[in-house]
Parts: sequence; C-alpha cells; structure tokens
Amino acid sequence: MLNRRQFLRRTTGSMLATGLFTHPFLSLAQSYDMIVRGGRVIDPSLHFDDISDVAIAGGRIAEVANNLAAGAAQEIDAAGKLVMPGLLDVHAHYAQDAQGPHICLSDGVTGWVDAGSAGADQIDEVVAIARSAPQPARVLINIGRQGVIPAGDTADLALADVEAAKAAIARNRDYVVGVKARLTAGVTADDVEVLRRAQEAASYFNLPVMIHMGQSATPMGELVAQLKPGDIVTHMFAPPPNAIVDGDGRIFPEILEARRRGIWFDVANGRVDHISWDNFDTVMAAGFWPDTISTDGFSNSRSAPGVIDFPNIMSKFLNFSDMSLSDVVACGTGNASRLFSFLGDKGTLNVGAPADIAILELREGSFEFLDNYEGVRMGGQRLFPFETILAGRRVPRA
Ligand SMILES: [Zn+2]
Repeated sequence: MLNRRQFLRRTTGSMLATGLFTHPFLSLAQSYDMIVRGGRVIDPSLHFDDISDVAIAGGRIAEVANNLAAGAAQEIDAAGKLVMPGLLDVHAHYAQDAQGPHICLSDGVTGWVDAGSAGADQIDEVVAIARSAPQPARVLINIGRQGVIPAGDTADLALADVEAAKAAIARNRDYVVGVKARLTAGVTADDVEVLRRAQEAASYFNLPVMIHMGQSATPMGELVAQLKPGDIVTHMFAPPPNAIVDGDGRIFPEILEARRRGIWFDVANGRVDHISWDNFDTVMAAGFWPDTISTDGFSNSRSAPGVIDFPNIMSKFLNFSDMSLSDVVACGTGNASRLFSFLGDKGTLNVGAPADIAILELREGSFEFLDNYEGVRMGGQRLFPFETILAGRRVPRA
C-alpha cells in the first residue's frame, strides 16, 4: 500500500515522463470512470484512425490519446478491436416489441429510428417503446394510419389520412421525427398522391419524409421531384422496376439533382425486394455511395441470414465495394447523426460528446453474405459486435 506522498511522487514522475503533466484536464491523481485501451480508434468525424485509448468521465468522452497514463475505475482491453462511435440505425423497426432496443444495443446500436412500423392508430404504443428504450430512439409515423399491413398500407387511399397523422404527431411531438411513405405498387394505390399527403402532414410540423422506394408504379425521377431538402430515400439499392439507375448503369439525372438538393440516400438492407447484388454493383460502380447504412432490422434479425446485425450490413460494403473502412463507419455514425436532430451530438468521439461507443471485431475468414433474392456472396472479412458502451456504461450482451 502506498501512502499519499509515495503515490504522488510516483504519479508525478510518470506524468512528467510522458509529458502529460502539462495537460490542462489532468490533475495529479487523475482517474477516469472508464478507459477503453489499445484499440484501433476510427472516428471519421475527426478524420481519426489510429491505435489509441479512449477515456470516459461523467458519461462523456474525456480524452482520446495513445498510452494514457491516467487510471480508471474500469478498463476495457480493446487491443485488436475496432473502437468507433456508437452505431446509428436510421431505418429499423425496433419499436415493435420491448426486446428490440436491447438486442440492437448489444450489437453496437446506440441510437435508432423506427421507420414507420405504426401509423396514427398505433403510434402511442411504438412511441412508448421508443421512450423506454435504453438508448435514444424516435419514430417515423406511417402515413397509412394502420401502419404496415399485409393488404398494403395505403392500398385503400382513405388510409392515407392526413388529419389523423397530424393529430398523432401533435400528441407525440417529442418522439415523432418524420413521416414514412411506402411507395411500392400494391402497398399503395397511388404513390404520387400518397407522397403528396405525407408531405402535407410532415410539412405542417417542419419534419422530413422518408420514402420507401422500389418496385413503384411511378419512376423514381418523378417521385424525388416531390422531395424537399432533408428528406430521405430508403432502400436505395432496390432493383427495377424504377430503381435509381437506368438499364445502362447511369444514375438518373433527377436522382443526382436530388442529392445536390440535400436529399439523403439510405441503404435499409431488409429482407424482401430491397437489395439485389446486381443492382448493388451497378449503383456502386456508378459512384453513387450511400449517405447512411441502416438495417431495416427487427428484434428477430439475428435469425434472418441476410440481416443478422448492423455490423453484418456494414461488412457487405467492406467486401463488395470500393468504400474504405472509414467510409463505411461514417455511414453508420457521423453521417447518420446529421439526419435527425436528436442524434446531432452523437456519431463522434469528440471530447465532450456522449460516451456512446461500439467496439467491433474485424475477423478475416470466409463469410456468406446474402442479398434479398437468395444471392449468396463469399467475403473475406466480417465485422462482429464485441462490446457496447452507452453513456459511459458497459452494456450487457443481450
Ligand atoms: Zn422498414
């Protein structure tokens, strides 16, 4: 046991030796709540990619530096792992049951948006789940008042009820952060009219609209003309009819123009009709990379071999596109933080940011990756969840 004088002599000596004595935030007996040691820290928001320690105090990032001399109440050995901002899933369905938020959290997801599971008729139930989620979570309201239904959300146009949506948003103004419109033929009787109604409800509250694209009756060029800056096109790799790319592999000019206007393009991998390897290759070869990567996942996604978890979807881009690891991480963190204001201070490991951290493992080997059409590809690397930290606390594996 050291007495205080011996302790100070030792601490001061080691601090002087490492030059840390001059650090403005360090006092003599500096001790953090937690230090994540020795991982490869990747934070595209700071253009940072290096072996480093991440120190946490008071639920926030306190310092990112190599070989921190300070101690901590709890230390996590991240040697050989990737340490990045917590993943943000902007298109998921985790508000459908109480388990969803916990399962995705242990996969590294520290913020999510339920994208239109519910319409006006059930919005209070999904908002209650989002409200009780361990991590920050919000919902998009489906313009179809009964939400996602087998007969088609707005196959009966009367279900696209603007007044019902507005009343539901007004009741839940703090948790409804946008309006979702599913525009596939069969799901809707009239995609142009349903999108018009979604915009009417959203614009009243100055909220974005997210359109679910793919197999629509109306060409994408016409649909995106109805979008405003800040709106989101999800399922961007959905194959024809009415993909974002023409038969010669060229992105439609209206789509390029939409991106220039500030409309976001999101992945939303999902299970059915949202991504085919052929169309994935065509869109990526045209250089039209996603703004955000998302899962379109549910609480049971681990048993859906094409989805599994957020790191699995990220791995598809690592293996089968020209995107770098840093590009892929940006799509799941910093980029996603810009879509919704409640995520605005997340997606970064900047000092002072909430200490929401995903620690992943990048394994080399032979891994299967599925599209939505039973297309199987083998890839040489895959990201696996290892540990999640939320607001400075270690999350138990669910
Ligand atoms: Zn979805």
